Amino acid sequence: MSNTPRLAVVTGGASGIGEAAVRRLAGDGCAVVIVDLNDERGTAIEAELRSSGVSAHFHRVDVSQEAAVEAFVAEVLTCHGTPDILVNSGGILQNAVRVLQADVKEVDRLYEVNVRGTLLMSKAIGRAMCEAGRGAIVNLCSLTTFRASAQIGYALSKVGVKTLTEVMAAECGAQGVRVNAVAPGYTLTPAMQARIDSGQRDPQAVYRQSALPRFVQPAEVAAAIAFLCSDQAAAITGVVLPIDCGWLAR
Ligand code: NAD
Repeated sequence: MSNTPRLAVVTGGASGIGEAAVRRLAGDGCAVVIVDLNDERGTAIEAELRSSGVSAHFHRVDVSQEAAVEAFVAEVLTCHGTPDILVNSGGILQNAVRVLQADVKEVDRLYEVNVRGTLLMSKAIGRAMCEAGRGAIVNLCSLTTFRASAQIGYALSKVGVKTLTEVMAAECGAQGVRVNAVAPGYTLTPAMQARIDSGQRDPQAVYRQSALPRFVQPAEVAAAIAFLCSDQAAAITGVVLPIDCGWLAR
């Protein structure tokens, strides 16, 4: 797959879908900047990739904190130049909850990380991309973007990410910057495995609800992300692409 752009920033790059995107983009020849809160995993992935000849740098940044994001992006621009790719996979999940019982502090935190984090990183890197006249951003939506879900704070946040994706795509297209999102179905990441292990997610129910009766693999989401960032997707912007084993089709 053609990935002529070379420098990729991936938030949430130390786990799950973000880690799979880091590995996929590195495999496609990109230098990667991994952003996460998990120092241990971030530095381990950085070391592993470097040992196989990849230019990889881990940065501990809380994407919901404006000053931290601005300082991080300034450092990236100085040390590495303008990123060609931004993948906003840093995010948090939520268990189903009745609206009447919702913990608004949890709803706020979901908004802060999933929406504000995506906005802050997209804003800071998107400005540089627009100045450079090129770039591709991929955000993480969810099936809750398309169908109402009882994970109320999470669902609201992922509808917000869809709106952000569409508005930014319309704003930045003339400057050569494309903005898309993927909407993974039930994907077997560490976060999902923890929910299965604690009994909050029943694998059999996922199989029954999916046209392809299985979980999505993180590498399959990463493949779609890599496609959206590549020249093969040069005419695609402002879309939210489901990768859901046919969950929406049922
Ligand atoms: P994960 O927990 O495996 O990975 C998320 C990573 O984001 C973690 O390494 C975590 O440390 C990091 N992170 C969390 N808060 C952060 C912050 N404030 N600043 C920087 N990094 C932060 O989760 P995942 O399943 O890979 O999910 C990744 C994204 O994909 C999320 O946005 C999630 O909503 C979305 N998604 C996941 C699924 C799924 O089934 N796993 C489905 C749809 C969408």
